[in-house]
Amino acid sequence: MRGNAAGGVVHVDLTAIVGNWRLLCARHPSGPVAGVVKGDGYGLGAGPIARALYDAGCRHFFVALLDEALAIRKVVPDAMLGVLGGLIPGSEADYVAHGIVPALGSLAEIDAWTAAGPRLPAILHIDTGMARLGLDARELAVLRQDHARLAGIELRYIMTHLVSSEAAHDPLNQCQRRRFAEACAMLPPAPRSFANSSGIFLGEDFGSDLARPGAALYGISPTPGQPNPMRPAVRLMARVLSVRDIPAGASVGYNATWTAARPSRIATTGVGYADGWHRALSGRCNAFFDGAPVPLVGRVSMDLTTFDITGHPAIAPGAWLELLGPHQTVDDVAAAAGTNGYEILTSLALRLPRVYEAA
Ligand SMILES: *Cc1c(COP(=O)(O)O)cnc(C)c1O
Repeated sequence: MRGNAAGGVVHVDLTAIVGNWRLLCARHPSGPVAGVVKGDGYGLGAGPIARALYDAGCRHFFVALLDEALAIRKVVPDAMLGVLGGLIPGSEADYVAHGIVPALGSLAEIDAWTAAGPRLPAILHIDTGMARLGLDARELAVLRQDHARLAGIELRYIMTHLVSSEAAHDPLNQCQRRRFAEACAMLPPAPRSFANSSGIFLGEDFGSDLARPGAALYGISPTPGQPNPMRPAVRLMARVLSVRDIPAGASVGYNATWTAARPSRIATTGVGYADGWHRALSGRCNAFFDGAPVPLVGRVSMDLTTFDITGHPAIAPGAWLELLGPHQTVDDVAAAAGTNGYEILTSLALRLPRVYEAA
């Protein structure tokens, strides 16, 4: 099996991901819950995740790009498969041929989709504050006066995306909710899609006909600052390649940023920043062995990271240290690296084999 000699392995718990999806379904009684599997399933593998969710009954999926949709179309044969990134001119025929639904975010995209065929299904994306994609106020005003412009399209959903949903008290949440309701009132009646992961936890006002969570499926906390209701779904294990004893005063790694204050034992593992284990983590987190922390010491290098394992005689070459998992969550590592859990997961390099613990 590939991975027998890997420096690190990503274990993906599909049972936990399906359990997280079910929990989100229970928290979103107003309508079904889609699976957002863009970014190759937030770095964990869109195909196996989409299949596990599909087998559990999920019938709506979202990706960012047409190519991501094409890659999983066969895995979710009769599910709605939406592309959030908008319609790239010239790609209409691929959408039609594979039954993929674009999120249309401009009048030009609406017209192009109308021209691509009669009554093709689409999602209409409204910009209520993100200012990235979606119809702006001017385009919305045009549509308000001219519903006929949408008459050639089968409007599956009207959607918008929250700017600050993980900050529950940010006034932008209520502001976007109002703007979205106002926008929908200007358009032909259609089902609505609103909340992402954190939006599901903002209360029933944020419920809609289709929620679109990604992060929470993968165990990232949708409620920062409060207990995480989601199950961890990822473990990143690093192989110990070498163990050595160094005297007090010896330094470890590039630029000698860490010096042993006492005789120390150092484990070198086979995961580095080329694996997506960020260099910013240098000196800022731990690994875990048998539930016990061992501090990361020195610089993270491209392929290697060193840990102070003094006092842990059981750690020998061939042992595995937990870098991400129940003892040190994706959110913990994100905080140490100065980023968010989304970037930690989507950084995990393809050279780390993914091992799926199946539902
Ligand atoms: C990524 C994305 C989501 C999922 O967001 P999470 O915070 O990961 O739940 C939903 N909708 C849109 C438009 C997105 O881009």
